Amino acid sequence: MSEYNWCHNPDCHKIETQSRVRGTGDNKVLRTVKIKVGRYGNHQPNIWNYFCNNSCLFQFLNKFGQEIANTYSVKQPSETPIKVKKVKSQDYRMRYNGNDYEKIPYTSTTMTIESK
Ligand SMILES: [Zn+2]
Repeated sequence: MSEYNWCHNPDCHKIETQSRVRGTGDNKVLRTVKIKVGRYGNHQPNIWNYFCNNSCLFQFLNKFGQEIANTYSVKQPSETPIKVKKVKSQDYRMRYNGNDYEKIPYTSTTMTIESK
């Protein structure tokens, strides 16, 4: 069973591409793009089931971004518990002293984030 959506950008039908042209003779129109759900083989909820391309997605976001932000507003930061592992290691860099290169040792610390 094939399912379709119309591109949700309200101005999709104003974008001049040959792929949007419909109609015959002098009755031609630019029509909103019809999108096959799961067209990229992804059957999970996917933004590309609602927008024909990046340009239409961003036109939609620019037009409705404020309403979306108000609807799904974030009033405080969220936090994800993690474990941080720090590993110190000895390393060196080379420095030119005018005549020669010398090894300058330093200790580097690498931080690894592990989810809990
Ligand atoms: Zn579109």
